[in-house]
Amino acid sequence: MSEGSKVINWYPGHMNKARIMMEQNMRLVDLCIELVDARAPGSSRNPDIDRMAKGKGRVIVLNKADLADPKVTDEWKRYFTDRGMVVVLADSKSKKGTGSVIAAAKKACAEKIARNAARGIKNQSLKAMVVGIPNVGKSTFINAVFGKNAAKTGNKPGVTKGKQWISVGKDLELLDTPGILWPKFEDRAVGERLAYLGSINDEILVTEELAGTLLLQLYKDYPALVFDRYGITEELDRDVSEASFSTRQSRMLDHIANKRGCLKKGGETDYFKVSGIVLDDFRSGRIGRISLERP
Ligand code: GDP
Repeated sequence: MSEGSKVINWYPGHMNKARIMMEQNMRLVDLCIELVDARAPGSSRNPDIDRMAKGKGRVIVLNKADLADPKVTDEWKRYFTDRGMVVVLADSKSKKGTGSVIAAAKKACAEKIARNAARGIKNQSLKAMVVGIPNVGKSTFINAVFGKNAAKTGNKPGVTKGKQWISVGKDLELLDTPGILWPKFEDRAVGERLAYLGSINDEILVTEELAGTLLLQLYKDYPALVFDRYGITEELDRDVSEASFSTRQSRMLDHIANKRGCLKKGGETDYFKVSGIVLDDFRSGRIGRISLERP
């Protein structure tokens, strides 16, 4: 294992079709509800969306906020608010925060609503579409916001021919297929964060390397959480601080493997197995509430 030994290369060619579809759908809506992963809101968004959603109301949902560091999430909230977006913090899995989406949509479209009111048009429902990279929680979010009370409004004549809309009450209508954005990065660190989150395939990276690098980042940023979860002792702490990058990764994984019984015959560390445990612990929030980047 060595630092920077493998460059992440991720180029989903089929995404061109998805992009064209999204640009067409975008013309039908008043606002774009963009989902990002609250643990890495910069890395988990595709900046092309700013061009595609130009002139639309903008709501940005920091989803999976239950898994992110609340202090850092507040910093991101300020960051996106300063850039003209209406920000919603959500835990779509347990439906926390998703109730504020209708109010957020109205706020994001305040100008249009005022313009319509001046022309005597009142109570017109807003049309929205949800977009985001894979695994960010689009389906879960749509279900949380629109699930129980949602009504399929069916095909509408004219511009929306062939499209299904779902609505909540009279205020908001949503295109029922979310727009899938492709992850975008030239920077290795961004690709790594997406891999930690499980947004890009593990196979793109060597699992052991991914888990080792993640562990060292967590150890640097959230030492108390890593201590709590894996019982890393001061002795090991001193050892790993002095060792080289790859030795430190291996030493930490060895330590966890010993505690978790991830050993091969003969007592060698099963790096693949222990790495899977570390990644899974992180993804499911078992290490704690962690953010991978700040604005
Ligand atoms: P999509 O690919 O964007 O449609 O993502 P999904 O809706 O399929 O969600 C991907 C995974 O993330 C699923 O296992 C969800 O249960 C989980 N998930 C979605 N939203 C949240 C959330 O706010 N918090 C947590 N902890 N998990 C979530």
